[in-house]
Formats: sequence, C-alpha cells, structure tokens
Amino acid sequence: KLYNEVQDLKGNIRVYCRIRPFLPGQNQSHTTIEFVGDDGELVVSNPLKQGKENRKLFKFNKVFGQATSQEEVFKDTQPLIRSVLDGYNVCIFAYGQTGSGKTYTMSGPGLSSKSDWGVNYRALHDLFHISQTRRSSIVYEVGVQMVEIYNEQVRDLLSSNGPQKRLGIWNTTQPNGLAVPDASMHSVNSMADVLELMNTGLMNRATSATALNERSSRSHSVLSVHVRGTDLKTNTLLRGCLHLVDLAGSERVDRSEATGDRLKEAQHINKSLSALGDVIFALSQKSSHVPYRNSKLTQLLQSSLGGQAKTLMFVQLNPDVASYSETVSTLKFAERVS
Ligand code: ADP
Ligand code: MG
Repeated sequence: KLYNEVQDLKGNIRVYCRIRPFLPGQNQSHTTIEFVGDDGELVVSNPLKQGKENRKLFKFNKVFGQATSQEEVFKDTQPLIRSVLDGYNVCIFAYGQTGSGKTYTMSGPGLSSKSDWGVNYRALHDLFHISQTRRSSIVYEVGVQMVEIYNEQVRDLLSSNGPQKRLGIWNTTQPNGLAVPDASMHSVNSMADVLELMNTGLMNRATSATALNERSSRSHSVLSVHVRGTDLKTNTLLRGCLHLVDLAGSERVDRSEATGDRLKEAQHINKSLSALGDVIFALSQKSSHVPYRNSKLTQLLQSSLGGQAKTLMFVQLNPDVASYSETVSTLKFAERVS
C-alpha cells in the first residue's frame, strides 16, 4: 500500500469529537465541557447542577477542543482520505444538533479564505495535489456528485435545472461496486472546477432553504468524490469513493409542539439517523446482519459502509449549557457506535 498511515488505523470505524468555540455574545462561564484529554477523553457536566453523578466521561479516538483549527482537524483525516487513491471507499460524517458546527467542519464558514476551508475542500485539494505530483504510472480521474436527502427523497444538487427532480437509488451494483443514485456526475480537473460546482450545490440547497425554512438543517447532504486510477504500466484500474456527509440536525423535536410538515420532517430525520446508528453499531459488533435497508441514507452509502470501507464520524458539540441535554444525547449516540 502506498500510504502506510492507513494501516495504523485501528479497525474501520473511527469517531472524532469536535467542540466548537463559544460564539460572540454567548456566556462563556457556563460551559458543559469540563475536561478534554490528549487521548480522546472527554468529561462533560451541567455547570448549573452540583454533584458527582452529574459528571459524564466519554472516550473517542480523538477529541478536538475549541481552539482546534481546520488545518489540524484535516491533518488527522488526511490519511483516510488518501486511502481513496488506493482504491478504498471512505465515508466521513458530521453528526450533531443544529448549530454544533457540522457544516463548519465539513465545508467551513465560507469559501473566501483557504484557511477556513473545511474537510471537503481540503480533501479535494489534497487528492488533486497527490494525484498530480505523485511520481507513478497511475493516471487519476476525479468525478463529483452532490445530493440532498430530505424527507426520504433524494435530490441532485448539481443538476443544471435545479434540485427538483427526485432520484431513485439504484439497487443494481455498479461495475465499480458502488450503488450510486442517478445523480449527475461532474468530472473535475482543478480546484476551480470544484469551487464552481460546490457553489452550484450550495445555491441549489439555499433555494430550497428559503422555500422550506432552513431546510438545510433538516436534510442530509452527501458529496461523493469518485476516483478512478489507471495504471498505464500494468493496465489495471483502481476505483475509490469518498462520501462526505453533512447530516441533518440530531436535535429531538418536541412531539407535543411539532405538527404537520415539521413533525413529518422530524420523524424522517429520526428514522434515518437511527438507521445510520444501527448500521454502524452492527458493523462495530461485526454482526452478520447489517440493516442497510431502513433508510435512504444507509442504502445510498451501503457499499461505502462495511466490508473494506473506512468510516469516520465527527461528533459535533456546542459547549453552551443550554445545549446540555442535546450534548448528552449526541454523546450517547456516539458511544454506541464507537
Ligand atoms: P451546524 O451545521 O451543525 O448547524 P454550523 O457549522 O453552521 O453548525 O455552525 C454554527 C455556527 O458556529 C456558525 O456560525 C459557525 O460559523 C460557527 N462555528 C462552528 N464551528 C466553529 C469553529 N470550530 N470555529 C469557529 N466558529 C465555528
Ligand atoms: Mg449546517
């Protein structure tokens, strides 16, 4: 294998926790984060409550504290991403309540400054860089798809006529072993191509957001990067795929308050996030039955979850005391899959 670091990864599922900083105007004296260890330990507590039993300890592969830069986060993600060039399938998720920093980690706060770039831009940048500078006989082609899953419907975010068309998920296995939805595939040769596509994707997402009131926090967005490497010497083909997933907000919606569309949305989100949790849990237990079929999300990602595929979940936390109960439920989800 070309990237030895990959072999250092224990197992195929990793969970990283990232705590976002307080935002301007938030009261910093009420943090729920008591301790962040160097080896992935995290202690949270409710600062408004006394007593030892209030303290909860969790353990991750890594915890990124509030001062961690985008670059540092990427550094620990890079080996996984590079393994795509060796033909691995990789899934990276951001999980957490709305406002916990999922989009910040995956995309960043905007495109203006490179130092703000999140995992997805850095990943593509890195893949281009490596594939173009690596002295080898392998020629790489990179294709990108971007879809949104909202209320168990899949939509193409890169289609030229907007995101209206609903897509089916192909049940047949593709020649490369990937069950891709029939979303448009765009070949990219440079970061400029990528940035243009992402802008289209974001605009298509935003269109629906105004129409449906912050829909982006209630839908999953999946950026899929397909890499094909042809070895000109041996005339062999390598295929790898990287899925970068910004999940819908995990917050529990008060059932007594939510009605109509809001309730339906909440039920779909609940269902798909628990389906994802069940799949990762089954994989971590090496269970013989993995329940992929319970949601569109897990169906879509099936060939990139399990088997030889590698999975990374960013568990995002908002340190504010007002988020304490959501923080605990996020951590419980993470605990089950780690
Ligand atoms: P989510 O996608 O989970 O709803 P966002 O990524 O939109 O959350 O983050 C919520 C707010 O917090 C945004 O204003 C974002 O810019 C800010 N934020 C999140 N993470 C960080 C971070 N690590 N550093 C600085 N600001 C952050
Ligand atoms: Mg978001």
